[in-house]
Amino acid sequence: MAKIKVATTSLAGCFGCHMSFLDLDERLVTLAEVAEFDRSPITDIEHCGPCDIGLIEGGVCNSENVHVLREFRKNCKILVAVGACAINGGLPAMRNSISLESCLLEAYRDGIGVENAQIPSDPELPLLLDKVHPIHEIVKIDYFLPGCPPSADVFWSFLTALLEGREPSFPYELVHYD
Ligand code: SF4
Repeated sequence: MAKIKVATTSLAGCFGCHMSFLDLDERLVTLAEVAEFDRSPITDIEHCGPCDIGLIEGGVCNSENVHVLREFRKNCKILVAVGACAINGGLPAMRNSISLESCLLEAYRDGIGVENAQIPSDPELPLLLDKVHPIHEIVKIDYFLPGCPPSADVFWSFLTALLEGREPSFPYELVHYD
């Protein structure tokens, strides 16, 4: 039987959701028997190809995030918002109450310890968006896994349900937002 293909990425995330995914520990071996990984921080694959499941950590804070998110949506049959940042912007969205200009000035000109102040302007760098957005504001999302991060048990419960053709649902104890 062909393995299901899973892609993962971190947009404006902290990689904590990926760390929690790795907390599946020995269950990763079981998962590897039925699933293979496409683009992901744990592979060397640069672009998301056709996949069954795309797991997205992090909200959208810059132009590259938008591009990557659209690539995942185009290629993944099921797209999943993983964690608080992807679901509602998370802690990085605290910058939404401050103007982008103020954030840049604080980080690159006025902050304590800044030397040779200049705001990075290399065209290679992705442009920051005015606000941090949850990913459902950019593309359609099929499922949301809450938590900062979701626990390994949430990932396991979700993935095993999909693999067995069941609709994912979580017991109350697994649902948390912190
Ligand atoms: S939800 Fe929490 S753990 Fe996941 S990327 Fe955001 S800050 Fe990190």
